[in-house]
Amino acid sequence: MVTAALTISRQAVFPERGVIELTTIEVQPPASDQLVMRVRRVGICATDLHLLEGHIGDPFPLVPGHEFVGEVAAIGGDAAQRRNLAVGDRIAVEMQLPCGACPRCAEGRYNICDRDDPADGLPVGREYGVNIPRTAEPGLWGGYSDYLHVPAEAIVHRLPESVPWDTAALVEPLAVSFRAVQRGRVTEGDTVAIIGPGPVGLLVSAAAKIAGAARVVMVGTRPNRLDLARRFGTDFTVNSREVDDVRGAVAEALGGLADVVIEIAGVTDAQSLAVTLVRRGGRVVLAGACGWSADVTFGADRDLLTREIDVLPSFLSAGGYEPSIAALTDAAYPYADLVTHRFSLEQVSDAYDVVREKRDDVIKAVLVLAD
Ligand SMILES: [Zn+2]
Ligand SMILES: [Zn+2]
Repeated sequence: MVTAALTISRQAVFPERGVIELTTIEVQPPASDQLVMRVRRVGICATDLHLLEGHIGDPFPLVPGHEFVGEVAAIGGDAAQRRNLAVGDRIAVEMQLPCGACPRCAEGRYNICDRDDPADGLPVGREYGVNIPRTAEPGLWGGYSDYLHVPAEAIVHRLPESVPWDTAALVEPLAVSFRAVQRGRVTEGDTVAIIGPGPVGLLVSAAAKIAGAARVVMVGTRPNRLDLARRFGTDFTVNSREVDDVRGAVAEALGGLADVVIEIAGVTDAQSLAVTLVRRGGRVVLAGACGWSADVTFGADRDLLTREIDVLPSFLSAGGYEPSIAALTDAAYPYADLVTHRFSLEQVSDAYDVVREKRDDVIKAVLVLAD
């Protein structure tokens, strides 16, 4: 049987390292256990730029984009029943495609899914827009595209009508923030130090406050970002370029070293600093990606052993989407203000210039696939 293509999708593709191309692809109707998502917004992430430069493996040709939201464009019968979804429903799809069956998935840590199935030719830990090449059928594996393929194993969440599309595009970075806060076991009354007021760092501040943090201090270098952090729940800021003794400044702000430190700067110096800002017996969450070849130095006995610090890496967003969607719905913080730039798919190269050079006080840039 030959089925007619559903439609044609535009896509931005990285055919090889350093090259961006615009192309199109036919979208096939979904099988019974699948759906096809119409992408409305996709956030541009620093990860996308690293992928283009070849810093994260060699997954080319790649359709990038993992911070997508949109609506159901077509859905198979089984998927409609199991997911309780219909055409037109607003959804967020998690960036990971876990197997749901391996020991790591079984314990809820599906962000480190261990499926290793040579038969499908795909990497362990499959992520939309990161490591599934466009050559894998049906080629709709990234958000820089009008349409996205959503197989049975995808984790899909319903988005409320009240959250505008631009704001909804923050669902993934906010989910990453909630995972970091959960890993740090931030609870009522905790003091929290955050290193790195990038888009995720600002959202970590909000997530920590929502989790009950009593006091939050943000450590960074750019004054405009530190000012902005105050609008996302940060009580105190420390400019590490201006202060000689960051540890002393954090302790002064919090009335002692932090119960929890969350590093999201993505540089090894920040990770080394993080373990010095926490109290004895405290928790340090390392959530920033520093690059595959980076090695970090800690004071093994001085900072970790004799103070029995919990060092907790936090990877991606597992378990973070539910609180993220709840927070965006609740709108207790001015999330919309983080989306400073909007571009069309055709403008993706211009968008990258702005993001790379941090022009015009850009915080989060999004591609608008459909308004
Ligand atoms: Zn991202
Ligand atoms: Zn798994």
